[in-house]
Amino acid sequence: MSDTIERVVVHLVSAPVPGGLADATRKVESIGFTIVRIFTANGVEGIGVTYHEVGGEATKTLIDKAIAPRLIGRDPFDTEVLWQEFFGYLRGVGRKGLTFGALSAVDIALWDIKGKTLNLPLYKLFGGGRTSVPVYASGGWTSYSDEQLVDEAQMMVDRGYSKVKVKVGVEAGTNPRRDVIRVKKLREALGPDVALLLDANNCWDAATGARFANRVAEYDPLLIEEPVFADDIPGLARFKRSTDIPLGTGEHEYTRFGVRDLLLADAVDIVQADGTRAGGFTEMLKIAALTQAWNVGFAPHAMENIHLHLVAAAPNGLFLERLLLFEEVTSRVFADAPVPIDGQMHIPDLPGLGLNLDLDYVLANDEGTA
Ligand SMILES: [Mg+2]
Repeated sequence: MSDTIERVVVHLVSAPVPGGLADATRKVESIGFTIVRIFTANGVEGIGVTYHEVGGEATKTLIDKAIAPRLIGRDPFDTEVLWQEFFGYLRGVGRKGLTFGALSAVDIALWDIKGKTLNLPLYKLFGGGRTSVPVYASGGWTSYSDEQLVDEAQMMVDRGYSKVKVKVGVEAGTNPRRDVIRVKKLREALGPDVALLLDANNCWDAATGARFANRVAEYDPLLIEEPVFADDIPGLARFKRSTDIPLGTGEHEYTRFGVRDLLLADAVDIVQADGTRAGGFTEMLKIAALTQAWNVGFAPHAMENIHLHLVAAAPNGLFLERLLLFEEVTSRVFADAPVPIDGQMHIPDLPGLGLNLDLDYVLANDEGTA
């Protein structure tokens, strides 16, 4: 009954981001996917993915040179065993960052093999019963004018979303009073029924974040995300004590250990760990369990086509994030990737991830073969 990994292929595809989009702390110039394809002796192909703004070449090289040779001949169902082996093998070269992007993409591909072998979608393997999950639209860059900000949010609502996330922290976080004015304009334009999520992308200290939260409370945000530097866990906890607006964070945490520290410090209400960076499905199942033990929300960052299985299966899974920035590259890399309908992502009735690569596009645009 067992299967064996025979071959691992890695592709690197990226797309420039037009228009110099920026949030409070960085400009985004390119979005890239590192795509892992794992082939087995029984003829199953699993696909996994991680993404990057910079450094995709390093991720690809790490998989090609260090991870792939150790997968050959192994049983793809041994996800726990393999994860622990690679955690040990790679620990000296990084327990965060690109190293974990690489490990995450490989783990996701192994789970795709499991689903395809058993002819079950992954959410069923995870024990889930939901076949659709709410999703919010995510954009609203700080580089936008007030008019662009409101127009894009209105466009999201016109496209059927009832939840919209925008950036705050204009002028590199130096002018929170302007942010309050922008939030006010958004609330006035969108009306009371659209959920408004605010992402500060690490730009403030706890006192500035708390002052901002208290000033925008009347506009009823659903959450404030990363109001302080992601590694300032005491600062996040101080922010959380200062407001009853839920605090979202975790997109920059890796593994169950990073999320454990947020929870122990009472520094999060909605955990936004990203399975394409934090360690794949093997690790995200543990992270989801931790969030349940602490009775907080679970709402993974970005990569909605990967995360929908996890959120569908987690009893505290709130919603997915669909970054408008990723729509173009996602629609090109994957053939027939699901798209939101009326603010819901519907899980494809297909085994594994339910995703198929558009191989013509991937091979024609593969930067890894140059
Ligand atoms: Mg964010």
